[in-house]
Amino acid sequence: MKVAIVGAGIVGVATAHALLDDGHEVLIIDKEEPAFGPSRGNAGWVAHTDILPIASPKNLRQVPKFLTDPLGPLSIRPAYLPRLLPWLGRFLLAARPAAYERSIQGLAALQQRALPAWLKLAETTGLTAHLHRKGGLYVFTDKAAFDEAGHIAKRQAEFGIKVEMIGPHELRQLERALKSGFVGAAFHPGAAHISDPLELTLALFEAALARGATYEKAEVTNLSMAERPALIGPDGWQRVVDRAVIATGAWSKPLAAALGNPVPLDTERGYNVSFPGVTGLTSRPIGFEGHGFVVTPLDSGLRIGGAVEFGGLDAPPNHARTRALYDKASRFVDGLPAFDSGRLWMGFRPSLPDSLPVIGKAARNPSVVLAFGHGHYGMTQSAATGGLVADLIAGREPPIDLGYFSPSRF
Ligand SMILES: Cc1cc2nc3c(=O)[nH]c(=O)nc-3n(C[C@H](O)[C@H](O)[C@H](O)COP(=O)(O)OP(=O)(O)OC[C@H]3O[C@@H](n4cnc5c(N)ncnc54)[C@H](O)[C@@H]3O)c2cc1C
Repeated sequence: MKVAIVGAGIVGVATAHALLDDGHEVLIIDKEEPAFGPSRGNAGWVAHTDILPIASPKNLRQVPKFLTDPLGPLSIRPAYLPRLLPWLGRFLLAARPAAYERSIQGLAALQQRALPAWLKLAETTGLTAHLHRKGGLYVFTDKAAFDEAGHIAKRQAEFGIKVEMIGPHELRQLERALKSGFVGAAFHPGAAHISDPLELTLALFEAALARGATYEKAEVTNLSMAERPALIGPDGWQRVVDRAVIATGAWSKPLAAALGNPVPLDTERGYNVSFPGVTGLTSRPIGFEGHGFVVTPLDSGLRIGGAVEFGGLDAPPNHARTRALYDKASRFVDGLPAFDSGRLWMGFRPSLPDSLPVIGKAARNPSVVLAFGHGHYGMTQSAATGGLVADLIAGREPPIDLGYFSPSRF
């Protein structure tokens, strides 16, 4: 079958390989160059050991505290608030205990597939050197939060996820660049990170072309509802295919709505600063719990970033936020390069209120599969998502319950 994938981010290119594995003729379409969106500059964690959705009773309690700091881990641009209300309403619903539990089940089911799917994809494409398996650390300065993490570790163990709670001394043995002041850390030995998000996304894109996929730069503004859907763009541009996949990340809302799925997709804008060539400061990714930033030792250099800002897709970045993240990091990590030597970036996490992506057939055209909304975990879940999309297109029974990710669950 001829299958078009709209979106050449990490979800689109990983899906291309899953479809090529099934022998399909694959056309990748993007309105920009490949890896234009957050797949270009994210933190590079394969964070499949995280199973807690953001909409939780606990996080709800913390929201007011976070919002009082305009450059803190969470902010809402006031002008954007009215447009965010539908998302916020759903977020509140998703934080109710029963909904929260359901999201954990869905998230864990997808996360459990994430690393095996990545290993298979890396093997198929000869890109195993891009995956580093040195674990991940979540470090704590607050004793109560550290104790709480101990309880979460028990929850993670139910899903077969290994977490070792370690003390400050052991932490310093693992990461010498960390200053003092930590009460302990949760070490996830199974977590992984990648060489560099841009490098890996482009390498997978090139590998897909080498396997016979084709690429066209075009904007898709609508799709026809025919069994063989037509992808429609400006100035009479049109391509008719057998199946289509919408993997357009944070930009997916209008296409999904046109296909009968008005999903409450929004974007959590994230920021970072990268120091090309700076390697060896830390051995593995480190998340600073309660401080809203992470540090990743990418092959291309050190990256420091995080934060969640609600402000939509059009507002310019506010790099005072990036500076604030860096300043915090320099309180906790020795030997950081000067801020001014770094490269600044802002990206759009495609986020749904329940922290689960949309993976499923479109309501108005079952020949079109929607695959977007991976939020904080798109890099992590891309290969697993690709496999599930290929199952849907082949008519195979998916290995996990796709009800959690249904486009019509809202
Ligand atoms: C600061 C930050 C840190 C992050 N860290 C991590 C991490 O450590 N681990 C992790 O797993 N995830 C992380 N993420 C999340 C991750 O980056 C995203 O979930 C992921 O990149 C989304 O990939 P995607 O392919 O769905 O979308 P995108 O990368 O946004 O790709 C979508 C593509 O679709 C194209 N497109 C859009 N609309 C159209 C249209 N109408 N027609 C044609 N083309 C179109 C765009 O040009 C774009 O290239 C982070 C995100 C941010 C912002």
